[in-house]
Amino acid sequence: MRIFIALFVILFAVPALGQRVTGVPSEERTMIRQTVEEWVRPTVRHLPPAQRQRVQEVTIRVVDARLIDGFAIARRGDSGEREVIISRTVIAFLFDLSVIEWIAEAHDQRHLAEHWTQQLIWRLLQANTLLGEQRMYSGRSPLSPFEYTGLNSDAFMAEHGQVVGGIFVATLLDILFHELGHHALDNLYAPAGEPTPAQFRTMRRAERNADLFATEQFRVLSSILPGFTPIDENNVIGRIFALHALRTIQMWSSRADFRQGHSHPNDDQRVLHAVTDLDCRARPEVCQLISRYRALWDSEQGSIEAYRRRAASGETFAQYVLGTIEQRNGDYAEGCRLYRQAMSGPNYDRLLLHIAWCHENGYYSGGTPDDASIAVARTFYALEAENGWLEGQIGVDRLANR
Ligand SMILES: [Zn+2]
Repeated sequence: MRIFIALFVILFAVPALGQRVTGVPSEERTMIRQTVEEWVRPTVRHLPPAQRQRVQEVTIRVVDARLIDGFAIARRGDSGEREVIISRTVIAFLFDLSVIEWIAEAHDQRHLAEHWTQQLIWRLLQANTLLGEQRMYSGRSPLSPFEYTGLNSDAFMAEHGQVVGGIFVATLLDILFHELGHHALDNLYAPAGEPTPAQFRTMRRAERNADLFATEQFRVLSSILPGFTPIDENNVIGRIFALHALRTIQMWSSRADFRQGHSHPNDDQRVLHAVTDLDCRARPEVCQLISRYRALWDSEQGSIEAYRRRAASGETFAQYVLGTIEQRNGDYAEGCRLYRQAMSGPNYDRLLLHIAWCHENGYYSGGTPDDASIAVARTFYALEAENGWLEGQIGVDRLANR
């Protein structure tokens, strides 16, 4: 993150006047403030009066989210004030994701970003279960892409910093414009609980309109700031990257407290719209990165099918992921079968917790746990407790008298 700040200041040399950006003092808040000052504010002047007035009322609040929950959201505050809430965790995550995706691209390692994200999120979960409300992604990633890959960050950023920074700013701008769009168009919605079909249609329309608003602001920006050179004219790259980040987070967030809920429904549709607008002539190398994720975006079902194919070909990581998907869908036997297959791979974080659970519940012993399976479960829970997983200790305690 620090690297990026340095880069950002060098590239744009922005005076931080600070306007309607509040929240926890942090590098991320500074960055949002600069982004708003330099790239968002100029476009606001070009809005129709009613929209302009609504956008000018907005306070962008940078918050310390516990985890990566709460991506970014437009809402009315307790006294009706207009707000955009964005978590600094998400901002830091977006930057790290830009870095790891580009490392994967530069080194032609297809699943690198996926593996990194999994480990990162589990570390966040671990830290969270152990330390309660501690802020675990504040300022410093618990698993920086460079630490993870062993690459020298200065050397990598010297060579690729401009592309990485470009992707990151494009992503951040799409998110900010999108959320401001909800306010400008007065398209806020927050049905409590599961939305009805009619509410869902309204939400989908609001999303589409906020996206169109963001695209329009990006075009305005390109036309009024001669020095502004976007990656692509409509900022499709930024949108796709933002949606990819959102999808990545959701993919790994099997826990309810991670979930974004329904505030940004139907991202597949949004990606579909974005992809049709993509013009790859300006930056073919960035577009190539985008195309690697098409299979994941085609649909939720499409992404599961992709994991099925990878799992069937013997890829242990995919077997593990598919195991968690099957469990989430209620097919515990299939989940346990896949976990067991995944055990022949490297020692994946938390895999033994799942295996222990399967033993405890008799999925490896014909439906009823016998003494041997309880003993194995106990051993694995204990190992995971040593690794710092609270669920491991809970499992040990639970089985203490069996
Ligand atoms: Zn939205």
